[in-house]
Amino acid sequence: MSDEARILISQHAKTSELLGVDFLPLGNGMIQAAGVVDDQSVSAGDREDQQARFAIQSDQPISGSESESSVSLDSEKVPEPISSAELCDVYQTVNGDQAQLEALSGKYVLEAPHQHFCPQFNNIVFGEGDASADLMFIGEAPGEQEDLSGRPFVGPAGELLSKMISAMGLSRERVYISNVLKTRPRNNATPTSEEILLCSPYLWEQIRIVQPKVIVTLGLPASQLILGKNETMGSMRGHWHTMSAGAVGLPEVEVMATYHPAYLLRSYTPENRRKVWSDLTQVIEKLGLSKE
Ligand code: URA
Repeated sequence: MSDEARILISQHAKTSELLGVDFLPLGNGMIQAAGVVDDQSVSAGDREDQQARFAIQSDQPISGSESESSVSLDSEKVPEPISSAELCDVYQTVNGDQAQLEALSGKYVLEAPHQHFCPQFNNIVFGEGDASADLMFIGEAPGEQEDLSGRPFVGPAGELLSKMISAMGLSRERVYISNVLKTRPRNNATPTSEEILLCSPYLWEQIRIVQPKVIVTLGLPASQLILGKNETMGSMRGHWHTMSAGAVGLPEVEVMATYHPAYLLRSYTPENRRKVWSDLTQVIEKLGLSKE
């Protein structure tokens, strides 16, 4: 693409953004005000939305299915998930939310629950952002870019998430961003229930430390886990829920489930964009962000 065309499109994107249109589709890929996003490199998250039975075509394996059985755990070797009490012991004597998250992350590194499910990873992606944020985003698992950088949501889906966050009047530094799994699954597969079982204790403790007022779950695995529901995204998104973590004694947190940004990139229809924006608008209202 010529520089002139790039500048024109970028200006058009910026104008559209000001008019409330956040994302502009361009053929199979997408152009954002911030730059070009390559649709081919959508990472973890898109499959789980496909698994949510949305009518999208994909050349990616539907994970959780037999075709991904290489990531299944050998049940004889599967340990018990770590207990909430053991994790609390690690960080509760530490002062400050950020330091507590670091202690928890250190425990994750030590225990390495992912070692039981053979992921393909370079870096653990534990989470980042404001350790005392009012708003927490929870995705599925690191993708390629996240794996390389050790940071959540920095690939194409992450760029879109960043745009959503700034459209809400916030910045990534003011929210906390994490995932159900902390390492990139083999073949970017959707997390299996065994993987979720082993890794979720760390997520529950992240929530206990951050104490967000609102959690936004991105896509199916995060939404089903946090809500304790086995429903489709279509039925879970768009209205308020209360987090289902009574088992580990967490306080009630309001949850808005919405489509994963990777799914949006794949299925970039005005209707899906409107739905996501409508979900986020409810979060803006709940947190009083429009009045800031
Ligand atoms: N998709 C996710 O679910 N999480 C990330 O961190 C990146 C992509």
